[in-house]
Amino acid sequence: MNTVPYPHLLEPLDLGFTTLKNRVLMGSMHTGLEDGRKHFAQMAAFYAERARGGVGLIVTGGFAPNIEGWAKPFAGTLATSGAARRHRQVTAAVHAAGGKIALQVLHTGRYGYQPLCVAPSRIKSPISPFTPRALSARGIERQIRAFVRCARLAREAGYDGVEVMGSEGYFINQFLVTHTNQRNDDWGGSYAKRMRLPVEIVRRVREAVGPDFIVVYRLSLIDLIPDGSSWPEVLELARAVVAAGATLLNTGIGWHEARIPTIATSVPRAAFTWVTRKLRDALRAEGINTPVITSNRLNMPEVAEAVLARGDADMVSLARPFLADAEFVNKAAQGRRDEINTCIACNQACLDHTFANRLCSCLVNPRACHETELTISKSAVPKRIAVVGAGPAGLAAATTLAERGHEVHLFDAAAGIGGQFNMARRVPGKEEFAETLRYFARRVELTGVHLHLDARVDAAALQAGAFDEVVLATGVSPRDPKIPGQEHPQVLSYIDVLLRRKPVGRKVAVVGAGGIGFDIAEYLATGTDLGHASPSTDLPAWLREWGVADPATQRGGVVRAQPEPAAREVLLLQRKPGRPGTTLGKTTGWIHRAALKMKNVQTLSGVNYERIGAVAGAADESGRLGLFVTFGEERKDGQVLAVDSIVLCAGQEPLRELRSPLQAAGVKVHLIGGALEAGELDAKRAIEQGTRLAALL
Ligand code: FAD
Ligand code: NAP
Ligand code: SF4
Repeated sequence: MNTVPYPHLLEPLDLGFTTLKNRVLMGSMHTGLEDGRKHFAQMAAFYAERARGGVGLIVTGGFAPNIEGWAKPFAGTLATSGAARRHRQVTAAVHAAGGKIALQVLHTGRYGYQPLCVAPSRIKSPISPFTPRALSARGIERQIRAFVRCARLAREAGYDGVEVMGSEGYFINQFLVTHTNQRNDDWGGSYAKRMRLPVEIVRRVREAVGPDFIVVYRLSLIDLIPDGSSWPEVLELARAVVAAGATLLNTGIGWHEARIPTIATSVPRAAFTWVTRKLRDALRAEGINTPVITSNRLNMPEVAEAVLARGDADMVSLARPFLADAEFVNKAAQGRRDEINTCIACNQACLDHTFANRLCSCLVNPRACHETELTISKSAVPKRIAVVGAGPAGLAAATTLAERGHEVHLFDAAAGIGGQFNMARRVPGKEEFAETLRYFARRVELTGVHLHLDARVDAAALQAGAFDEVVLATGVSPRDPKIPGQEHPQVLSYIDVLLRRKPVGRKVAVVGAGGIGFDIAEYLATGTDLGHASPSTDLPAWLREWGVADPATQRGGVVRAQPEPAAREVLLLQRKPGRPGTTLGKTTGWIHRAALKMKNVQTLSGVNYERIGAVAGAADESGRLGLFVTFGEERKDGQVLAVDSIVLCAGQEPLRELRSPLQAAGVKVHLIGGALEAGELDAKRAIEQGTRLAALL
């Protein structure tokens, strides 16, 4: 009987000149630690922690081979021996921890958010304000030499290999398709000429680094742009880069300018491994056995194991899951799957930070990229501490405090832990949030937190408990928008809808278009309450919904989207003028807006909510509820919105009535999460505050 928990995942991979200890690659992520000189010690600690956690091969965030390749001004660059010396800190730390690490060479081409960017043709990208300079033939030669120099310096710096970034619409990818390459010299025109660049780069990199150095080539398998590569072109390139010396073929899914989500939480798990399977099968049929790596939305060991077991790939690439949990592989290997802190693919502390020029971290693990500064050590003076509220903030605080050796009592008025996450996880596309609750439930057990459920506590009970400190993580209460007539039984709060499951009619007005208003609109339009399945848990439905096709039948893999019809009519309203949804996450807001558009959700901005109910002219003949609105400061253009239900999502207020009586009684009180500040609250802030406070008490 096989006793290895995930036999395919944990099987070593022999590359001939070196062996990877398992089939898990930590995929490249831009963390912000790459940029500038000051972060090398932090970067070393970050990667060493992941190496200790058992990952087979780490790929760093992207380093530009020259300034033309910068993602932004002064982005991390490896172009000199001096820079290579600084990298030695990173490679030495990873090797001392028993790991292997490759450096990603990233030239962003026309995606560069900087004025020096270059490309095959002078065609601006939709995601950068800078128009690239079209390269001359000599300019292309200089870029190739920069790639080669970067790979040679990576070897000098002690790296075990390099990854040549050839996908996601970056520089190399831009040569491959006519959409961005309109040259008619030796580097454009026929596909043979368009693919010359990557083949030259890989061939000359291999020549420069010798045979015993890993060269990963990241190949775009499905561009997800209308005139992307055809499948025969993808195969031709794969054969050519293997012949040129690539050790491993990694999978790239979608250009950054594609309008199809590829990694967000609403993308089903393992949504694109079937594309890697097509490549692997085709190569194997031709006798090419180069290991193929698959990626995107692989966030738990059983998902990755199933992908490998069915032969979709030889290796899996997980990136964000290593921000969430450095020990992912060790935990899987030791049968501790339920202890994994799962990446919920929210992008809130990783990609959204990167796009805002902030150091990356992780919503569920605030220590990510802060390993040297946010340390959790045993307390010299163990205390007796009460934490009130088992939402994300309270859970993070209680488990961290207990880990430090304190006696922790965690109280929640509800029958289970999780606070608002119990609502979030019911929203279609947010099913992953349940993993965070599973993780914290296990952490509560393992750290020995004394959990008291169905326990609404008051100031007197807390005083009687003789605690040294009290942490209030009592969260929020919904804001009362005070609309005349809102006491009507068909006027519901988001809590009524998501937790109490009160029935909602066929035509609904949602008051408030913040994060929760959007989620409620998606929940109701999808018909989750009516038993309609979430496309995020049904891959064929999701592919149809977003118009993803087999790249062998359609260039680029894009066809017309065919979403399921909406389960009901939804109107989403806000008082502010302008387009709703501008405060949603930078990298995910567009997905929410597109999802609502697909369900024909109508939006109205600049609304004043005048009154609700059967006031004159406010109820139509069908007996529906009337929401009487006007527009703008002049309160003009009054109209009645006839609906069956109204759902209030008008924001939240902090819930902290315990603070004053406790402080008056001389108890040491700390506030975190929504209890401290409800404005712009999210789980990222709640968990970070809980963890940081607990690290200090
Ligand atoms: P809460 O989660 O509100 O927890 C407070 C807890 O305190 C509750 O369990 C409550 O029962 C308990 N409590 C209160 N008073 C007492 C008392 N006297 N005694 C005992 N217990 C008490 N955030 C994101 O970052 N990303 C998202 O995508 C996201 N989606 C969301 C979707 C929905 C539908 C909702 C409702 C929220 C979403 N959020 C999201 C917000 C996120 O859930 C909150 O920011 C987070 O839960 C706040 O954490 P908290 O611990 O401060 O408070
Ligand atoms: P929110 O994002 O602050 O939105 C509240 C909405 O209510 C806004 O549209 C606001 O805009 C409206 N509003 C405010 N006061 C009102 C009043 N008196 N009467 C009528 N409308 C009023 O808050 P939320 O939607 O409750 O979400 C709570 C938190 O959870 C958010 O801060 C968010 O970060 C987090 N969350 C995040 C996500 C995510 O995907 N990241 C998803 C869900 C929730 P107008 O004033 O213009 O109408
Ligand atoms: Fe995953 Fe969200 Fe953490 Fe990013 S912030 S690693 S998406 S859980």
